[in-house]
Amino acid sequence: MIDVIDLRKSYGKVEVLKGITTSIKQGEKIAIIGPSGSGKSTFLRCLNCMEDPTSGSIIFNGQDIADMRVDINVHRRQMGMVFQHFNLFHNKTVLENIMLAPVYLGIQDLRKQKTANAMLRVRNLFSKNKKPLHPITTTEAKIKAEAKERAMSLLRRIGLEDKAHVYPSTLSGGQKQRIAIIRALAMNPKVILFDEPTSALDPEMVGEVLDLIKQLADEGMTMVIVTHEMGFAREVATRVIFMNEGQIVEDDTPERIFTNPQHPRTKEFLSKVL
Ligand code: ADP
Ligand code: MG
Repeated sequence: MIDVIDLRKSYGKVEVLKGITTSIKQGEKIAIIGPSGSGKSTFLRCLNCMEDPTSGSIIFNGQDIADMRVDINVHRRQMGMVFQHFNLFHNKTVLENIMLAPVYLGIQDLRKQKTANAMLRVRNLFSKNKKPLHPITTTEAKIKAEAKERAMSLLRRIGLEDKAHVYPSTLSGGQKQRIAIIRALAMNPKVILFDEPTSALDPEMVGEVLDLIKQLADEGMTMVIVTHEMGFAREVATRVIFMNEGQIVEDDTPERIFTNPQHPRTKEFLSKVL
């Protein structure tokens, strides 16, 4: 599904990704582990086009997405991302958080709208005024209604349909992260990238978030998860990648990585965290 070839990223003179080569197959659940500062987040951000690689390629669906000419929006909707700090929109309700990207992309597809124009139409569509600035077309209303239906069904799935109209600030960390996960799902992505999804949670909320991720894994979702939850990585991952100083040091089955790591650096890291 994704081929990463000699991916490099530098910030100024500092090279933080030093030639990452790997591939991700459909249905794989890849856990990325490694010390802080080893480049795990930078790698995920490159996969999701939130960061431009300095060199190298990322081939996704036959297209090199490190190539600036690729339509980033087309790419991004196929790749969901879940962050450590949830990154929900604070001034939008839970329901709006889940609906916004699908509606935006739907509107953009509709007329191949320019970014700014599509944004205006979406704002108009979500306007709280009784009478919006511009008339809402039937198709726009339909896109919105479909997004709402899907968002509500996702909320029901995680048992939070009663939170549809509240603002994220009223939710617990575990609830916020589960909303962030279904927000990613709302786009029907082909793969979801998780960057330390449980690191900012109180311990008692880690379980509910891991359970949801586990459900998605069981349903066959392709995923890449940066995590410090070694038990979870061992249970759910089909592959574990150990990163150190911007490189993949070891890439193997969870069984081998956790019971018989080959590289001294992997051994040292695991001896500290297990
Ligand atoms: P990890 O997620 O493994 O902790 P990161 O990918 O966040 O590692 O960071 C890798 C290195 O890149 C770190 O040394 C970090 O300070 C540096 N870095 C990350 N983002 C930036 C940035 N936007 N500008 C400069 N340096 C950065
Ligand atoms: Mg990180």
